[in-house]
Amino acid sequence: MPVSWNAPDFVSTPREPMSASSPIKRRNCVPVRVGKVTVGGDASVVVQSMTNTDTADEVATAVQVAQLARAGSEMVRITVNTEQAAAAVPAIRERLDAMGIDVPLVGDFHFNGHKLLTKYPACAEALDKYRINPGNVGRGKRRDPQFATMIEMACKYDKPVRIGVNWGSLDQDLLARMMDDNARAAQPREVIEVMRAAVIESALQSAAKAEELGLAHDKIILSCKMSVVQDLIAVYRELAARCDYPLHLGLTEAGMGSKGIVASTAALAVLLQEGIGDTIRVSLTPEPGESRTKEVVVAQEILQTMGLRAFTPMVTACPGCGRTSSTFFQELAERIQNYVREQMPEWRQHYPGAENLTLAVMGCVVNGPGESKHADIGISLPGTGETPVAPVYVDGEKTVTLKGETIADDFQRIIDDYVRSRYGRKASEVS
Ligand code: SF4
Repeated sequence: MPVSWNAPDFVSTPREPMSASSPIKRRNCVPVRVGKVTVGGDASVVVQSMTNTDTADEVATAVQVAQLARAGSEMVRITVNTEQAAAAVPAIRERLDAMGIDVPLVGDFHFNGHKLLTKYPACAEALDKYRINPGNVGRGKRRDPQFATMIEMACKYDKPVRIGVNWGSLDQDLLARMMDDNARAAQPREVIEVMRAAVIESALQSAAKAEELGLAHDKIILSCKMSVVQDLIAVYRELAARCDYPLHLGLTEAGMGSKGIVASTAALAVLLQEGIGDTIRVSLTPEPGESRTKEVVVAQEILQTMGLRAFTPMVTACPGCGRTSSTFFQELAERIQNYVREQMPEWRQHYPGAENLTLAVMGCVVNGPGESKHADIGISLPGTGETPVAPVYVDGEKTVTLKGETIADDFQRIIDDYVRSRYGRKASEVS
């Protein structure tokens, strides 16, 4: 039997317990249901992502959505930018259902969402949430009726919306008004402060307008994405204080490689630490040839390293130094991290709790035994001049010493046995 993805098993469950010593107290907000997933309320922080395929290509888009879902994305957004894209949405949903992938689909609309949702009712029905960018629903006199049409569609099809403001596409009419008001003020604020305030006003005013038009309070999620870390932190702190809508958190245009990861982590970690953020997306630009799923892995690792959720066993590894005799320990650490990540879809089904497993792969005797004893399973490899043996520690006790060519295979086997014996008992208890 193929192993199905398991995200719904944990996304619909209450907030995962954090360690007793965690100082994080999540902000109170209303829960919003997006397909099978709850965002806000008592739910854990939800990981989401976005495709970069042409949505009109229903096969390529369904395949990438499935990849993102299998990697752990609990909601996936697709752009709905053309008539062909809107027409393809129901077929994408059908293909995903046929694959057993019931991840909620979010439609990303700009400029013509009012037309597409009206003209393609099957698209409006197939999506689980609409993203509306108040800066891109139309200018001047067209803005309000076009926004109203999208909200009417959300009401008609009983869908939640994300009012998703983006610094790069801020409502220019609103900004101009606020800049004018500021210029006339006795003590004008800095331009950046007015821009931050305009981003927040755009989100809150649009949400209020949506409710006036009949959308329920618990059908609205807000985001105010900025590309500068300090701007994002300042904006979300104020937004969090001024409303009880769930907040979608993300640094927009984070960039590529380590820069994108570091910038996103720096911004999200500060806010998550303050309990702000109910769903996150890491907007990484994939490097050429790199999988889109990297952004899902990074989002999970941010939440897991902060103690907010557990997705996959984490491997503690030392950085290596002049005492490291070879690259073997780096290779082993990488192999084990990849191995446990690959096993998680199956382990989640058969060995619930295995995602909390802690592992250590250490390069020498200096910190190796100590760090290994702190992990559930740890191995201390031999450094320069040490006897070529690798003691393994299980639950803090040295259980075996590995040596020779089979160290990696043997260590992997020890992990498998441990998972079966420790978490298999839990599986039988819950069945
Ligand atoms: S554990 Fe050993 S090899 Fe690893 S960084 Fe420390 S001293 Fe270097």
